[in-house]
Amino acid sequence: MTGMTPPVHLSDPYPDLDPEPVPGCDICRELVKQRAEARRLGEHGRAAMCTVELGQHSHPKEARK
Ligand SMILES: [Zn+2]
Repeated sequence: MTGMTPPVHLSDPYPDLDPEPVPGCDICRELVKQRAEARRLGEHGRAAMCTVELGQHSHPKEARK
C-alpha cells in the first residue's frame, strides 16, 4: 500500500480567516458553500476569493438583523 497523500497545508497563504456569513443572506450562504467546495478540491485561490468576497459583501438590510 502506498497510502494516501497527506493534504498540503504548507503553501496555503490564507490561514483560517473565515468571516461569518450573515444568516438570511443568500449570497453569503452561496459563498460559504463555494468556498467549502473549493477547499475540498484543493483550489485555495478560489477559496480565498470566496473569503474575500464574503468579507466585503454588503448584505441586504433585511438580512442584517
Ligand atoms: Zn451577505
